[in-house]
Amino acid sequence: MTQSEQQRRAYLQAMGIDVWLPRVPPDIDETPALVEGTERVETELDWDTLRERVAACSRCELAQSRTQTVFGVGSRDADWLIIGEAPGAEEDRRGEPFVGRAGQLLDQMLQAIGQSRESVFIANILKCRPPNNRDPKPAEAAACREYLQQQIDMVRPRIILAVGKIAAQNLLDSSDPVGRMRGRAHTFGDIPLVVTYHPAYLLRSPSQKKKSWSDLCLAARLAAETQA
Ligand code: URA
Repeated sequence: MTQSEQQRRAYLQAMGIDVWLPRVPPDIDETPALVEGTERVETELDWDTLRERVAACSRCELAQSRTQTVFGVGSRDADWLIIGEAPGAEEDRRGEPFVGRAGQLLDQMLQAIGQSRESVFIANILKCRPPNNRDPKPAEAAACREYLQQQIDMVRPRIILAVGKIAAQNLLDSSDPVGRMRGRAHTFGDIPLVVTYHPAYLLRSPSQKKKSWSDLCLAARLAAETQA
C-alpha cells in the first residue's frame, strides 16, 4: 500500500468511515439538478484590496473586541469553498479559520476527499470572533455578508460546502435544522451548495460522521459534474 493510500485510510478511519468504501464517490439515487456556467470571472475589486478592507472593517461592534479579522485561508482558485460560522478564540489569536480541534477534523475530512487546507478556500460567515463564542447576531452576519459575497464572486468555486447550522441558514436564508438541509443539493446563486454538520458537532457526536461523509461524497460528485 502506498503512503498516500495509508494516509487516506487513516483519515477515513478518523471520520469513522469503514475503509472498504469506494474511493470514487458513490452514485446517489437522486441526481441533483446541475447548474451550468461556473466559469471564473475577474471582478473589479482585487483580492488584496478586499483583504485590506476586511482587516480595517468597523461595520459592527465585533471590531472592538476582536484581536484581528480572519479573512480566510487557501487557494484563490479553489474548486471547493468551505464556509463555517465565525472565528473562535484560537482563530482570533492566529488570524486563520479552523485551527482548533474542529479544524483538525475538518482537515481530515478534506484529506478524505483528496483536498487540503491549501487546495480549498476556507472562510466563515463572520470575519470576527463573537465574544464568548456566542452565535453571530443577524445584524453582524448582514454587515459581513458583502465580504463573503465578494470572496465567492472572486473564487468562483465549483462547490460550496456549508458546515454547520449558522453557515447553512445564512447562505440558504433558511431556519431549517442542519438535519433537514444536509444530504441534498442546494444552490447559492448558480453555484452548487451542500450542507453538512459542523466538525465541532461531529467531535461531540461521532456517530454522525458517516452522514457527513455521504455529504462530502455528494459535494465531490457535484464538483466533478460542474467541471468545465
Ligand atoms: N468554527 C468555525 O465555524 N469557524 C472557524 O473558523 C473555527 C471554528
